[in-house]
Amino acid sequence: MPLRLSCARPLSRALLPGLLCLAVMPALATEVEDEDIAKPEQAPAPQVVEEPVVIEEDGRPAPFTLLGDSVAAGGIDTLYWSPEQSFASIATPVPVLVAHGSQPGPTVCLTAAIHGDELNGIEMVRRLMYQLEPATLTGTVVGIPIVNLDGFRRGERYLADRRDLNRYFPGVPDGSSAARIAHSLFSEIIVHCQYLVDLHTGSLRRVNHAQLRGDMTHPDIVEFARKFGGITVLHGKAASGTLRRAATDAGIPTVTMEAGGPNRLEEEAVDSGVKAIETVLDNLGMRKTRRFWSSPQPVFYESQWLRASQGGILMSQVKLNDQVRRGQVLGTVTDPVTNTGSAIIAPFDGRLLGMAENQVVHTGFAAYHVGVEKAPEQVQEEAARQEAEQQESVQPVQDDGGTAEDIAPESTTPEQTGEEAPPADVDTAPSTDG
Ligand SMILES: [Zn+2]
Repeated sequence: MPLRLSCARPLSRALLPGLLCLAVMPALATEVEDEDIAKPEQAPAPQVVEEPVVIEEDGRPAPFTLLGDSVAAGGIDTLYWSPEQSFASIATPVPVLVAHGSQPGPTVCLTAAIHGDELNGIEMVRRLMYQLEPATLTGTVVGIPIVNLDGFRRGERYLADRRDLNRYFPGVPDGSSAARIAHSLFSEIIVHCQYLVDLHTGSLRRVNHAQLRGDMTHPDIVEFARKFGGITVLHGKAASGTLRRAATDAGIPTVTMEAGGPNRLEEEAVDSGVKAIETVLDNLGMRKTRRFWSSPQPVFYESQWLRASQGGILMSQVKLNDQVRRGQVLGTVTDPVTNTGSAIIAPFDGRLLGMAENQVVHTGFAAYHVGVEKAPEQVQEEAARQEAEQQESVQPVQDDGGTAEDIAPESTTPEQTGEEAPPADVDTAPSTDG
């Protein structure tokens, strides 16, 4: 390892060490080694920062400090996060909006566009942040509208090196580019959050009805999910390396919100998301609310992804959010050359929480996400049962999807499947976050 480090700056070395570097490079600097370094499991567990509440003499909270900057109580400001990637001379700092209330309270963080092509979350953060009134706000809201600024500019899900940033959290400071960016975001911003909402959409031309995904084996996450009002909630232990998983493991109540599909801005999805997050802020006592009615309760679902049993052209006969019946044909997949086809059939009565657009699909493509409404307690019990089962079964290699592979399109990495990307948002799951 020391040899490899010295190779990073051969120009400053004498000729002989330089030659040595060349001689050992093939053995050391392989992509495999790079991936090994990036394994989130190998990083020390990040510590959440316990910030003491400091009240100034005038009774207002002390300025909120982040990223080497500060925002005064009752103010809103844009700070900048530099992932320290790329060429320093052309790297663009990522804007981070901070609204620091005039009363002390929790710090809620919103992250969007970890996948650069997921636009709905960007618009949600913009609307939320600019609607806030810091003068009457209790606590602090930190919004990062575009985490993966580089992918966003290219209109792509991934980082420039084709890695999925949402597989590298909490990251390591000396790993691959993705692992370093993840580490920087996590250690500089995420550890300061007391609640986290990570905003996503479906992936690979799939759309999701607005929904939350969280690990319901954690009572504080169930409690957090209940504060979002009348939204769909799914249990799912997030895939290893996702921001949701890393933040949950660090003890931060975290959910992902999935709304709509990639590469488009959908008014309905954005509205649903904004309303749900506003409801959270109200229920955490952060906003002055004038509501006189009790807010609707979230609806918990158990769900399953249905996959294409053959490759071909997928044509749907249903729409997102439809109620479907057991035995109903949801869509067909037809081989365009042989004209042989097969139907994808609903295995139980339920609601269509996510689906693929009409497109060419391969065998095994996750096409329809069907959910069945359950009592929150049932979902919690089932989550606990799955967790216990998982711990009992000996797993020599921890894979991304855990045991939820059959219901988790995103439970495999692109490298493993050969697909361009994991199906849903990466938060896997019974919940597969996109
Ligand atoms: Zn995503």
